[in-house]
Amino acid sequence: MSHPPVLLWFRRDLRLADHPALVAAVAAAKERSAPLLPIFIWEPALFAGPRSSANRTWFLRESLKELAASLRALGSDLIELQGPATVALPQLIGAIRAVGGTGEIDLFITRDHTPFARRRDREIAELLAPLGVHIHAKRGLVVVEPEELLTGSGTPYGVYTPYFRRWLELVDASSPLPRPRALPPLPDPTPTSNADHAAISAHSLPTAQADLLPKPGERAARAHADAWRTSVHQYAARRNTLSDSTGTSHLSAALHIGLLSARELVARQLPLPPAVEGERSGERLWVSQIAWRDFYTQVLWHAPHAAQRAWRSSYDAVKWSQDQRAISAWESGTTGYPIVDAAMRQLAASGFMHNRARMITASFLTKDLLIDWRVGEAHFLRHLVDGDIAANNGGWQWCAGSGTDAQPYFRIFNPVTQAGNFDPDGAYVRRWVPELAALSTPAIHAPWAHPKALAAAGITLGKEYPLPIVDHAEARQRTLAAYSVALKAEGAK
Ligand SMILES: Cc1cc2nc3c(=O)[nH]c(=O)nc-3n(C[C@H](O)[C@H](O)[C@H](O)COP(=O)(O)OP(=O)(O)OC[C@H]3O[C@@H](n4cnc5c(N)ncnc54)[C@H](O)[C@@H]3O)c2cc1C
Repeated sequence: MSHPPVLLWFRRDLRLADHPALVAAVAAAKERSAPLLPIFIWEPALFAGPRSSANRTWFLRESLKELAASLRALGSDLIELQGPATVALPQLIGAIRAVGGTGEIDLFITRDHTPFARRRDREIAELLAPLGVHIHAKRGLVVVEPEELLTGSGTPYGVYTPYFRRWLELVDASSPLPRPRALPPLPDPTPTSNADHAAISAHSLPTAQADLLPKPGERAARAHADAWRTSVHQYAARRNTLSDSTGTSHLSAALHIGLLSARELVARQLPLPPAVEGERSGERLWVSQIAWRDFYTQVLWHAPHAAQRAWRSSYDAVKWSQDQRAISAWESGTTGYPIVDAAMRQLAASGFMHNRARMITASFLTKDLLIDWRVGEAHFLRHLVDGDIAANNGGWQWCAGSGTDAQPYFRIFNPVTQAGNFDPDGAYVRRWVPELAALSTPAIHAPWAHPKALAAAGITLGKEYPLPIVDHAEARQRTLAAYSVALKAEGAK
């Protein structure tokens, strides 16, 4: 082996289209007639860590299978290595050197911004530099990189609206980078895959129902995104209806592992249609959701402490309840609040939950049950196929009142009012809480308040369906007191 291979390390960029690191790696290999070695590294944390999820591991593994097949069709392949990367990469470089690969080795990656990825990439850079490896980190996971968008005074944004305004101006609206038509050959000899597939398989048995999980792989994601383009104009009208399973894009899982380029999805919606009679268009609202994804990514980038603690540190003083019975009821969808239970059951059955339902259930856990937001954050990560450290953390801290732009702590969602507004005909509850299906609205959203409807439907609370585990009005007072005591004590320090 004369020229060492150019390395392309796939991480959260499992696609061939609009892939800056792939395009740059291919160009580098061609320029020096070097082979190209595409790799993926199974970090143990991906499949066996406390924040891993069998649903997500399954989606990742299946998507990788398709990526490998696509690479093979272009004359290459995907070599899957067993992590941690801090061990696998130096070993790989050693193996390349051992067969005579001299000279500098170029390693191409797409930047990832999670605290884990950041720490790992820093360690990798330190380990590989002495081995003659030059790392090229390209954009491709978010639309606007965290450092590219700061306030006029050079500080990170903590408020979304002005962030979004500037973000839109910075979007690179150019056409997507094309998929390569052929790839440089693999090195000879080709390092062998050594991923522990038995362990990975054992951790990729979805807990959700197979038929409710999103289709893995770039091809299905692209087909889904193309179909979504024909409905996006209705997004403003439909996105908040809980039972409307096609009112939002359902692209979050694909975006999470980069089956699609967020930049490409945004660029193809531009220019955005102007607001009509002050109403924002579906296209604009939808693009603004992708900006939320970038926003929370930059929040965690600039304030990594938020992964463990409150973004607004004064909220760390809240004294949370330790009621395990309440936590179990919330997790299992048996709180006696039908809208909360429907949402929690949707999560368990499908690995997905509607955004409005995420807000309702997160508010219920933190404000009605006074349970630490980190308990809910971890539960969501165990189930969500789209589970994303930054978006999940941002959403949870928003609901708990401790994050950026947060819901002020004294604004507490009333689950029954939320249900009436966003599940007006009860179809969402009927689907996920079938034991209440015979009830019509408004009884289905507050069965305890409708004894006649319950009797007519033959439902006894505490038997077929639980009694509410808390009284919302009382819980509200308890939470207001707990938050105000904590914030006053902090203010007095
Ligand atoms: C408590 C809580 C936890 C959440 N956890 C996650 C998570 O782990 N992963 C995740 O991707 N989203 C999370 N969200 C945000 C949001 O609920 C999901 O992105 C959305 O429901 C996914 O459905 P969709 O693809 O149909 O979204 P659409 O409404 O079609 O939005 C398009 C895309 O924009 C992004 N997006 C939308 N809303 C948000 C948001 N509020 N924050 C960040 N990105 C957003 C997603 O990538 C989404 O696919 C959370 C929200 C809350 C309130």
